[in-house]
Amino acid sequence: MRPTTISTWVCVATMAISSGHARSIDHERADAQALDLAKQAIALRSVRGPGNQAPRVAALFKSALVAGGFKDDDVSITAVDDTAFLVARWRGSDPKLKPLVISGHMDVVEARPADWERDPFTPVIENGLLYGRGASDMKLDDALAVAALIELKRAGYKPRRDLVLALSGDEETLMKTTQILAQQLSNAEMVLNVDGTGGQLDADGKPQYFTWSGAEKTYADFQLTTTSPGGHSSRPYEPNAINQLAAALVRIEQYKFQPELSELTRAYFMAAARYERPEIATAMQAFAADPTDSRAIAVLRADPTTIGKIGTTCVVTTINGGHALNALPQRATANINCRIFPGHSRAQIMEQLQRAVGDPAVQFKDVSEGSVATDASPIRPEVVGAITKAIHLGYPAVPVFPTMSAGASDSMWFRNEHIPSYGVSPLFIKDSDRFSHGLNERIPVGDIPPSMSYLLSLFADLSK
Ligand SMILES: [Zn+2]
Repeated sequence: MRPTTISTWVCVATMAISSGHARSIDHERADAQALDLAKQAIALRSVRGPGNQAPRVAALFKSALVAGGFKDDDVSITAVDDTAFLVARWRGSDPKLKPLVISGHMDVVEARPADWERDPFTPVIENGLLYGRGASDMKLDDALAVAALIELKRAGYKPRRDLVLALSGDEETLMKTTQILAQQLSNAEMVLNVDGTGGQLDADGKPQYFTWSGAEKTYADFQLTTTSPGGHSSRPYEPNAINQLAAALVRIEQYKFQPELSELTRAYFMAAARYERPEIATAMQAFAADPTDSRAIAVLRADPTTIGKIGTTCVVTTINGGHALNALPQRATANINCRIFPGHSRAQIMEQLQRAVGDPAVQFKDVSEGSVATDASPIRPEVVGAITKAIHLGYPAVPVFPTMSAGASDSMWFRNEHIPSYGVSPLFIKDSDRFSHGLNERIPVGDIPPSMSYLLSLFADLSK
């Protein structure tokens, strides 16, 4: 029996008993089902395009949920283009309460078998690691959530609010299914997104800390264009489209956005400082105390791992211009990619860039696709308490603190509907094993038992 068993059992069983259906949690059964479902899901190539097997992943999870006691009518699969999304509803006893949504995605990033050491779509366990595309992002998380819901049902747990499992089918690409889900579920109390963030293992595999995410930066692309009449290169004159664009890019490079601190990033800096080298740690603490501290700002700006946490960043990523070696350019374009600090719209940031450039001849166009600006979700004490308690079941005394994600997840579309959304993946991993979206993606199978305890506790605590 694992040390986590009793406390989880008590938390869940107490509620089960109160409704007269006490049965103990069977951790071994739930853990085994999660691993089995994860392996079956990894074997399905749920990649955008012809032959996308995301609908089969949805069918796999639906059949497990129905076999586990969900009514067939309460688990729907909706086809959208080459993919599908799944909604499983477990009705709560109090219809006045708003639903708790558990969110995840069933699709994965493309993986070319020729580049991998093992076939990406054949799950393999070696040296305690489960290998395969989607192992860490995020088929094991999905499988854990499905198996946890089934286990809660089996144990006789009765939620007060509806528990809704919402699995999208194109999070890695278009996010069309997520947008539909967010609209359909816009009356939710909150979203627990079991994708992203999670726990940190040190090089020896010892748990260091756990982070959950309450905000993410907004992705934006701005296209800059300059034009000039052109002509023969033997007779140069100004304006020259490339020179104009180059001057604009230099001004953007020199422009610094106002550093910012939020409730969430302050909590992050205070807690994360202890895991950093002394110079960064001191700067993090100083910045958390005073976001105008110029020495701290200089240190955090100079480090690529921290610059994105202290404000909006914009950088040129592509450039194009001219049409012949012996002609004056008629047109030049560049793409400026921005990661916007929560609380600002894309239009606001584009305006700031235009002012920094200060040249009306440089045309700006927002060419961002598939992203919306979102505010941070509030730090709700009952959420923090439930996450911390659930993590400590498997990892006693490990520090738990919030963070802001650099990239977009399904949470973006839920936050766009004003639903508080939290990134809460339970998985712990070493830096040297982090290969989401990359080659030889993997996850420790030893994560399964503590992750299961965590999800059972978290789902029950926030739906009771
Ligand atoms: Zn993901």
